[in-house]
Amino acid sequence: MRAEEFLIERWTKKTVSDYYDHKKDLKFTNKDVRVSQPFDGCVVLRYRTVPDAARSFFRVAEYYDGKHYGSGVRQVSLPEFLDNWMDRQGNVDYFKFWDGFNIPDRAFRSWLKSARPLSNAEQVMVDAVRKNTQGQKKFCVIGVGSDDPDTIRHEMFHARYYLDSAFKTAVDGLIKSHKNHSDFKTIQRVLIKKLDYVNHVDEETAAYLYAGSQLKLVFGVDAKDLVKAFRELDKNES
Ligand SMILES: [Zn+2]
Repeated sequence: MRAEEFLIERWTKKTVSDYYDHKKDLKFTNKDVRVSQPFDGCVVLRYRTVPDAARSFFRVAEYYDGKHYGSGVRQVSLPEFLDNWMDRQGNVDYFKFWDGFNIPDRAFRSWLKSARPLSNAEQVMVDAVRKNTQGQKKFCVIGVGSDDPDTIRHEMFHARYYLDSAFKTAVDGLIKSHKNHSDFKTIQRVLIKKLDYVNHVDEETAAYLYAGSQLKLVFGVDAKDLVKAFRELDKNES
């Protein structure tokens, strides 16, 4: 028996046609992403699908996720990634429903220093970021894998919180005055215990309240009064 026979999967009609289709359009190009700058320093990359966004951003996101890998900030290897994310059916939920990413300038630059070689999708992302942040010290990159307005609103919250000091001050004030609200505490508890958040838990809670969707589904709370309070942030916009 030749060694390579071990590598051959059991072909079916579907796997054959999927395989050949996939080979045809594997190369990711800048046509696969739409880039915009809704305000100074905020670069938004919109992809058609969740896997397209994930393949562009998962390594930079994982770079900062040391808690999953037992150490600090560093490039994550393929075996580590698979051990951490792939289930027994071969699914990686990351590539199926993680539809929003936000990466501040320092994180982007630090990751890029040791990230090469880049995948096609990563190269497209890096080129777009460089082109749109020339001469800017402080910026934030948003990647979204759908046109879902709530996802975009959630990620824009992170960008504004980072880039707009008046917005940040207003948010911090709201967090301080609602920290003891039972719904606020419930959201934080779920973020930490079920969604593995360690850092920026206040900011993440605020992002969910500002977007105001999926609260019942993910956290089991309505939090209507909190959502109302965080939506007021839009009224202060200049
Ligand atoms: Zn978030």
